[in-house]
Amino acid sequence: MNRIVIKNIVTIFILVTTIFQIGCETPNSKTNRDKIVVVSSITIINDIVRNIGKDKVEASSICAIGTDPHTYKSVPSDSRKIASADLIFINGFGLEGWINKLIKASGENKPVVTVSEGIIPLKDDKGHGDPDPHCWFDISYAKIYAENIAKGLIMVDSLNNEFYKKNLTDYIAKLDSLDSWAKDEISKIPSDKRILITSHDAFRYFGKAYKIRVEALQGISTEAKPQTADVARLVDLIKKVDLPAVFIETSVNPKLLEQISLETNAKIGGTLYSDSIGEEFSAGNSFINAFKFNVNTIVSKLKVD
Ligand SMILES: [Zn+2]
Repeated sequence: MNRIVIKNIVTIFILVTTIFQIGCETPNSKTNRDKIVVVSSITIINDIVRNIGKDKVEASSICAIGTDPHTYKSVPSDSRKIASADLIFINGFGLEGWINKLIKASGENKPVVTVSEGIIPLKDDKGHGDPDPHCWFDISYAKIYAENIAKGLIMVDSLNNEFYKKNLTDYIAKLDSLDSWAKDEISKIPSDKRILITSHDAFRYFGKAYKIRVEALQGISTEAKPQTADVARLVDLIKKVDLPAVFIETSVNPKLLEQISLETNAKIGGTLYSDSIGEEFSAGNSFINAFKFNVNTIVSKLKVD
């Protein structure tokens, strides 16, 4: 009797374990999966991936929303993400130096696409670090990101070639109208007030493309410490042109800019999205929305009648 009971328990145990294992393995087995797993370094790239990959991709970002990618320290779950990816997208130009180690350790044989490929980067004339990685703020470069992302998706999932191409065309059309809208808006700021002062130098591509002078406290990486001379220089500039506002950034500490604002008549004009998009229900919840939010914030605060 006891033997039968034990035998039954063992049989049930084996059965349950087998069912459990089947249940666990099926979703992870590549042949049965209908979505490709795509991991991006930053939320901006991840958002463009979602726009082009839509329901054919399971997309995530290593840096969370609001995280500064220059100084990011990776956590153990990042290795797991990289290990489970079919495709990895990075920005390049030194934005996320930490990712190379991560890929080497957990994803050495995975395809890695650098979305800035084909762009000639701006050089940092202040010597804070080179080259400037913030290419997405020139929408003509964001279009190159989108094209490289579509190419990457087609490379690992060629069956859905037409799907990705169609989504790319739609997204490029949205970027084109965003680009001309931004040019119009920025031109509404009186020329002597067309100066964007921010925490770190993320907006040099933006300045060049949309014709606004950009001055920042820190260099192109937030790793560089601001100098007292930089603070004094910005204070002088603000006073000289009677600049109405300076801007802080979502992923950078605002302390020094707040101090500059106190020393001058310039108000804190708002918080700009720089190296991350915003939370799901915020005004900057996608790359396009974050860009629009920035332009609206800058124009409304600098366009004084
Ligand atoms: Zn940055």
